[in-house]
Amino acid sequence: MKTSQMLIPTLREDPGEAETVSHRLMLRSGLIRKTAAGIYTYLPLGLRIIRKIEQIIREEMNRAGAQELLMPIASPAELWKETGRWEYYGKELLRFKDRHERDFCLGPTHEEVITDLFRREVRSYRQLPLNCYQIQTKFRDEIRPRFGLMRGREFIMKDAYSFDSDEAGAKISYQKMYDAYTRIFTRCGLTFRAVEADTGLIGGDTSHEFMVLAETGEATVVYTDHGSYAANLERAELLPPSHTDTTPLRPLTPITTPQCRTVEEVTRFLNITPQQLVKTLLYRADQETVAVLIRGDHDLNEVKLARLLRVTEVQLADQETVERLTGAPVGFAGPIGLQGVRLFADHAVKGMRNMVIGANQADTHYLDSNHDRDFTVHQFSDLRNAQSGDPSPRGDGSLTLAKGIEVGQVFLLGTKYSKSMQATVLDDQGKERPAVMGCYGIGVGRTAAAAIEQNHDDKGIIWPFPIAPFHVHLLPVSQSDRTAETTAHIYADLLAGGFDVLWDDRNDRAGVKFNDADLIGAPFQVVVGDKGLADGVVEVKIRRSGAKSRIAPSDILSHLRALSDETDTATSTSPTSIP
Ligand code: ATP
Ligand code: MG
Repeated sequence: MKTSQMLIPTLREDPGEAETVSHRLMLRSGLIRKTAAGIYTYLPLGLRIIRKIEQIIREEMNRAGAQELLMPIASPAELWKETGRWEYYGKELLRFKDRHERDFCLGPTHEEVITDLFRREVRSYRQLPLNCYQIQTKFRDEIRPRFGLMRGREFIMKDAYSFDSDEAGAKISYQKMYDAYTRIFTRCGLTFRAVEADTGLIGGDTSHEFMVLAETGEATVVYTDHGSYAANLERAELLPPSHTDTTPLRPLTPITTPQCRTVEEVTRFLNITPQQLVKTLLYRADQETVAVLIRGDHDLNEVKLARLLRVTEVQLADQETVERLTGAPVGFAGPIGLQGVRLFADHAVKGMRNMVIGANQADTHYLDSNHDRDFTVHQFSDLRNAQSGDPSPRGDGSLTLAKGIEVGQVFLLGTKYSKSMQATVLDDQGKERPAVMGCYGIGVGRTAAAAIEQNHDDKGIIWPFPIAPFHVHLLPVSQSDRTAETTAHIYADLLAGGFDVLWDDRNDRAGVKFNDADLIGAPFQVVVGDKGLADGVVEVKIRRSGAKSRIAPSDILSHLRALSDETDTATSTSPTSIP
């Protein structure tokens, strides 16, 4: 393609609205433009990247035995009412009425639609396993769309759904998708990890998220260096501590702590460490309020608490509830004398003695409180977030934390949807059984954004070769006939050799072309100018390293072929089978 024939509106200045590198660079290099909050137009250059990622996904899904179909974006409310998600999904589900006043929604995901198709078209276990996927625009009315394509409201997703006649078959389908995802993200040139993920109430116990490791990630990944354990922070298990404090119990003593509400204020005032203090947090879980004890230097994990209490989500109790139950202002809650709530505690609290806790009285804490003696814990459980250095739950060293971007997720769903929608098949005994399902998503735009987060410098994007909008940026920098002729030759050679080439045919200064080329981020730049041609060479620059070499125009194709084999250095750190 020639630059003059493509709409590539690059920006010299950083757009103010962009908070992350990928968002900024996608706008600056003319890949996307915002149409409304969380809703973007893909410009020609941006669409090329989307299509390349889609093609890799398509090839690997087909290779894994999945078939492509395309479901509608609009789906009728009736299907969603069958599974209860019409009520459950909340405001993320964009609902509308058609001219006959019938309720519809824009699909945020397609379990209902595919399960409806399945129950109408598939009868026998002999037709299984079945795995269908689509690459399609989704709509989720996200409360806080941000970071460009990373968290949009309208976005492109690949979603696949597998159907098996039993659990064992479903596990095989799941492993196939897990392996396909590993190949997809490796081929996209990303550094990623597959981590154990929480399934929430979606059903089943098996799920993995594919996380691209990047500072700007919204998720936290917890892993051991040997790679035997990796989970997201919501899910990461922690063992009860092996150490128990054996200091003698001292008598319970109230102490005045004026205006000291936070861990920091209390520990500074009493000159103690956060490890000697226990926070008492009050949480709402459906109709119930519970109290949870967490060591001062630890953070409560709301997903673990919700799972323990078997509710969808928990929320910190409001000020009024705290004041009513504790009889004290917020900041002084404690377990002693707390009436009418169940008391839970993190494992770490179990081994503690003589702890400092709130006294349910303004400006007061207790020194030397002890469970069993001063208060009774209903249940100890794993209720906190992992921290760097915590022992691995697999007993192999310690945990490390890193930020990650969730680019894909695989779920073993079980029969949640097939049961509620009566999607059954006849087994070999002629008995009806609900199909065992799995579902598998990849965010296409988010994958592109994650690739930029991992591959950029202060000048612009550095595309991994397989998903680059163009492999080579051809940059003539003189106006002579000789330069024009050589450029045309190289262009034809490279196209014939299978390279995607962007030819900057504008009459701009060399500096402008170089800046745009670095910004757009094709892996290779070829500079053609009178000076070099006088020596019989053109200049090849590798975008990532900046390394330059002088090459005869007739050798460009073979030179770039060799370089592209070398630069294709994807480094996945994901195990090949599920731990
Ligand atoms: P998140 O936790 O980030 O909101 P999710 O877990 O709700 O995502 P899934 O339902 O697992 O998302 O969807 C599958 C994939 O679709 C995700 O792994 C992600 O890559 C992509 N995706 C989800 N929501 C968005 C969004 N708002 N914008 C862009 N991509 C998204
Ligand atoms: Mg997810």
